[in-house]
Amino acid sequence: MTELDLSARPATAGLQNLAGMTRGEIAAQLRDAFGLDEKKARMRGAQIWRWIYVAGATDFAAMTMRAELAGRFVVARPEVTERLVSVDGTRKYLIRLGPGVEVECVYIPDVGRAGALCVSSQVGCTLACTFCHTGTQKLVRNLTSAEIVNQVMAVKDDLEEWPSGGDDRRLSNIVFMGMGEPLYNLDHVERAIDVISADDGISISRRRITVSTSGVVPEMHRLGAETSAMLAISLHATNDVLRDELVPINRKYPIKELMNACRAYPGLSNARRITFEYVMLKGVNDSDAEARALVRLLKGVPAKINLIPFNPWPGAPYECSSWERIEGFADIISRAGYASPIRTPRGRDIFAACGQLKSESVKKRASEARKERMAL
Ligand code: SAH
Ligand code: SF4
Repeated sequence: MTELDLSARPATAGLQNLAGMTRGEIAAQLRDAFGLDEKKARMRGAQIWRWIYVAGATDFAAMTMRAELAGRFVVARPEVTERLVSVDGTRKYLIRLGPGVEVECVYIPDVGRAGALCVSSQVGCTLACTFCHTGTQKLVRNLTSAEIVNQVMAVKDDLEEWPSGGDDRRLSNIVFMGMGEPLYNLDHVERAIDVISADDGISISRRRITVSTSGVVPEMHRLGAETSAMLAISLHATNDVLRDELVPINRKYPIKELMNACRAYPGLSNARRITFEYVMLKGVNDSDAEARALVRLLKGVPAKINLIPFNPWPGAPYECSSWERIEGFADIISRAGYASPIRTPRGRDIFAACGQLKSESVKKRASEARKERMAL
């Protein structure tokens, strides 16, 4: 593990940051700042958009009107206050968005050059799934779409992934599986997906963008209809009694309603399956009977099942199932014809694995715990 403290970027007080903005927002800024008419604002906005999202510009040096622009705007990145690289190549970034507001995002390299970036949509989470570290963090605020996009921008800088485009990408996929419940911040998540997926920009295709939800049923249809993103459901239990306990939002939207919303997800097909995430908790949800119940529950739904070994955190009330148990569970599912990859825990040494993210007020304690874990 290496630990680098990236130097803080200069303060940009009073200047509006154009990086992270949508096309429309950039045009509106230009219109208001320079009194441009709609058409001119859109044209100039489109140029600036390409500088930001294709070239990765961090200043106005190469742009026309640079002096005027520099007087009003910046193209800045959020401050990366901590960057940790795991022995397995996973990189975790702690990003400071404002005073006392920090989120984490995690880059997970895949085979070859490809890799996924796990972004956060909220600081903390208002839901309190009992196995999730983020759920124990109280401080919550929704991120703006620009703050979501700027996580991607900061990581593209670090991966030296400019200009955008091309086939041989290190950052090939985006997953909304960091801190927070994306469907409680859907307006901003949608806008961020629009920016990230635009062809003449970062251009990560919507099929390579996955949004994971604990089951906010009333927002699921809108997510599919308006973003065409891939859907992942944090299922974790096959009956309401247990799911009520593990994923408390189930009390509001029980499994039957959740599965109906899945069946109705726009664009669902064998080529566009829903991923069901199932965290393996020793003696809690990992029996053969539950594997069979899972198969029955998913009948008729184009699905992939992702078995996630539970990632422990200090004070967690669960243990991870044994490897043999996870394999036994996976066997039943794959014999029923489902792909059932077991997600290899990534970045555990830097506390970056699923459900281990937690920031801000408890950051110090988390880093102490990390040191303890490293010593194990
Ligand atoms: N709030 C959203 C997205 C963030 S959580 C959701 O719940 O889907 C991303 C994934 O990590 C979810 O499937 C979540 O259930 C899983 N997760 C949370 N804590 C975990 C832990 N300690 N070990 C393994 N997976 C965990
Ligand atoms: Fe929130 Fe997802 Fe964690 Fe549940 S699993 S507490 S919804 S981040």
